[in-house]
Amino acid sequence: MNMVARNVAAPKAPEKFFIGGKWREPISKDRLKIFSPVTEEEILSYPEAGRADIDLAVAAARDAFDNGPWPRMEPAERAKYLRKVADLLTERLDDIAEAWTLQVGAPISLTKKLVGQNPTLFNYYADLIETYPFVDERKRDDGGRVRVVKEPVGVCAAITPWNAPLVLLAYKVSAALAAGCTMVSKPSPETPLEAYILAECIEKAGLPEGVFNLVPAGREGGDYLIRHKEIDKVAFTGSTAAGKHIAKACADRLARVSLELGGKSAAILLDDADISAALPSLMVYSMPITGQVCFSLTRILVPESREKEFLDAYLGAVKNIKVGDPFDPATQMGPLTMARQLERVQGYIAAGRAEGATVACGGGRPQGMNQGYFIEPTVFTDVTPHMKIVQEEIFGPVVSVLTYRDEEEAARKANNSDFGLSGAVYTKDPERGYQMARKVRTGSMTINGMIVDPKHPFGGFKQSGMGREGGPEGLDNYVETKTIHYAG
Ligand code: NAD
Repeated sequence: MNMVARNVAAPKAPEKFFIGGKWREPISKDRLKIFSPVTEEEILSYPEAGRADIDLAVAAARDAFDNGPWPRMEPAERAKYLRKVADLLTERLDDIAEAWTLQVGAPISLTKKLVGQNPTLFNYYADLIETYPFVDERKRDDGGRVRVVKEPVGVCAAITPWNAPLVLLAYKVSAALAAGCTMVSKPSPETPLEAYILAECIEKAGLPEGVFNLVPAGREGGDYLIRHKEIDKVAFTGSTAAGKHIAKACADRLARVSLELGGKSAAILLDDADISAALPSLMVYSMPITGQVCFSLTRILVPESREKEFLDAYLGAVKNIKVGDPFDPATQMGPLTMARQLERVQGYIAAGRAEGATVACGGGRPQGMNQGYFIEPTVFTDVTPHMKIVQEEIFGPVVSVLTYRDEEEAARKANNSDFGLSGAVYTKDPERGYQMARKVRTGSMTINGMIVDPKHPFGGFKQSGMGREGGPEGLDNYVETKTIHYAG
């Protein structure tokens, strides 16, 4: 299995940064490396932006915002450019899926299915801004005219993680550009390739210079970017720890922040749930993408009376998951993305055992797969709510099954978390499902499934984040409200 030799997306300018509408030679001499999650070998090395490169990118975005046409264009005009970007991304979907699979290890069957969300987002926001109330006419009590206008928030920094590199960036870029903002993107150092593909599409679509800038860097570069006084807003997706750090840094100058952070979402099977119908959606993100998904359903709550029946069906399905080369179309679960992820997940499995939980399946490396960051899909039973494996985000294919006696206890256990990102409830009665969905303190719930749809808001309660991405709420993230009174 030699993934490194595969002919995957070769970005046009991995040796340069996209700044002010041009591909520029780096000033920094530092370099970053990408490693294959399957072979552990280096795939490529590429330049890391330093402070001087980031300064240039921010200056280009600032100039494009303060003096360029983009924020001043009619929304319908901006929409035309966004649709061009969507068309160009559509032409590159295979490249995007392959880059995702190559860098992250997510199965190609899944990445090919999910990449369509990228052009969808650009088309969605193009359509939305043609009817969005950028100017709302109102009246005061004294009869005077008031116009409440939505203006772009300014120059935005987009800082994104490695697990779903393009879609998490596309949520930000599509909405921010639609609002009239300009941007500096700093992708995750482990997964820059898709951001290059996006920059190529933006260049080809002919967006004005400086509207979108790309400076790949690691944590230090990210830290410099979020503190930059010319950045008006930081849009971040990543860990809760980094999100808190960013919120504190931005508080100093009250820069706007939106945060999409970690999760520990609960799936609640009510006593009338159809277990076999629930199985595919219980597993689609918690296992096949190696559990490296923020909205994975990683705590499953089942009625005590149906625990055995559930475990028989669920463990049977988990044991059947085909782990292997993510480029094999038959593979259902690839490796974890990097060595530190493998270490982290193994650490949590050890912690679960040490705290007295039972490994009902998995728990180790798959037989004969010691090269690559492979781990077995793992299920814990006999868990209690305070255990580390139940409270902390593992970000691997590790699920805990808990039981409950009545619906109040189910809701209490679901809410016993610092997180509140996603969730699901399974029942034959949609109204009962709705009532349970209202009881859980979380940003989204699906009744009888697991849906995240870019045209509808997504985001977190509690320590899972602030603000929403997707839907009209995602555009609200990138506008400021200005009130203009007519006094006479
Ligand atoms: P991470 O927080 O380590 O890094 C995310 C990004 O932030 C990277 O680009 C990184 O370079 C940058 N970064 C890290 N520290 C920084 C700092 N101090 N200042 C500025 N930038 C900094 O997260 P990760 O390991 O890349 O991603 C996994 C996490 O992301 C998980 O917790 C997962 O739940 C979360 N996530 C959330 C969502 C969501 O929509 N809520 C989606 C995907 C992933």
